[in-house]
Amino acid sequence: MAEEKEELLKYYEYRKKRVKRLKTVLCVFAVLLLLCPSVVSVYSVTRMAKLEQRIDNLQNQIDSINTSTMKADAVADNLVIPDYTPIYKEVKLSDEQRYPDKKLVYLTFDDGPSKYTDEILDILEEYDVKATFFVLAKEDMDERYQRIVSEGHTLGIHSYTHKYDEIYSSLDNFTTDVNNVYSFVFDITGVEPRFYRFPGGSSNKVSGVNKNDMFDLLTSKKLTYYDWNVSSGDAVAGGLSSSQIYSNVINGINSQEESAVVLMHDAADKHSTVTALSNILEYICNDDRYICLPITDTTTPVMHVIKEESNGIFQ
Ligand code: ZN
Repeated sequence: MAEEKEELLKYYEYRKKRVKRLKTVLCVFAVLLLLCPSVVSVYSVTRMAKLEQRIDNLQNQIDSINTSTMKADAVADNLVIPDYTPIYKEVKLSDEQRYPDKKLVYLTFDDGPSKYTDEILDILEEYDVKATFFVLAKEDMDERYQRIVSEGHTLGIHSYTHKYDEIYSSLDNFTTDVNNVYSFVFDITGVEPRFYRFPGGSSNKVSGVNKNDMFDLLTSKKLTYYDWNVSSGDAVAGGLSSSQIYSNVINGINSQEESAVVLMHDAADKHSTVTALSNILEYICNDDRYICLPITDTTTPVMHVIKEESNGIFQ
C-alpha cells in the first residue's frame, strides 16, 4: 500500500510540475502573444517615421530642384540678350584689285548731253563698254540723261552754266552752280550724283576761289571729283580730226603706267569725237591688256590738285 501511495505521490508531483510548466509556457506564450503586436507596432511606427523622414527629405530635394529650375527659368526669361547685329566690314575691292592683270581705261565725256550723245551710247553699247558722263544742265534732253543711267553708265555732274568766270568768281557762285546741276540731274533721273568734274579741271587757272573751300563743299555733298590723265584733245580750238583724237587717246593710254582716265566731250560741235570713239574701242576691246570701266566708288581718283597740297588759290 505504501509503495502504491508513493507511486501515486510521484505521479501527482510529476503531473503537478507538468501542469505548472505548461502554465508557465502558456503564460510566456500569452505574454509573447500580447507583446508581439506591440513590438511589431513599435517597429512599424519607427520604420514609418524613418520612411516619412526619407520622403520629406526627398520632397525637399525635389522642391529645391524645382526652385532652382524656376530660378534658372526666371533668369533665362529675364536675360536681356542685346540685339546682335553682325558687323561686317564692307570689303570693296578696288578696280585694280579686281583686274590686276589689266590696264584700266575710263572713258569720260564732258559737256553733254548733246545731239551726239545717242550716237556715243550706241557705240558703247555695240562694244558692251560702260563709260562716265560729266554732264551739264541741258533742257529737252531728259531721255539722254535717263538713257545714260538705264544703260549702266556713270552719270557725274560737271556744271550748270559752264561759264568759268561766273562759277569761279566766288564760293557762293561755285556752290550755286554745283547745287543747281546736282538738283537738275537728280530731278530728271532720281539718281544722286556722286562724281564731279571741275570745269577746266581741278588745276584750272581761272578760279580765284579758295580751292580748299570748293573741295570741302564737294565733300559735304558726298561728291568725289575726277580729273584725267589722258586728253583726247577734242576740245582744242579749231577741233581735231578723228584720227588725231584717236592717236591722242591710244598714245595717252599706252603711256600711262597705271589706269587711264580719258577726257573726251560729247558736245554738239564735236562729231569727230564720235567717229574716233569707234576706232578707239575697236583697238581697246580687241586687246586683252585693257579693260574699259565706268568710274565708280572703287575707282582710284585721278586728281590734278588735292586738298593736302593746296595753298588755297589756284596758281
Ligand atoms: Zn566742260
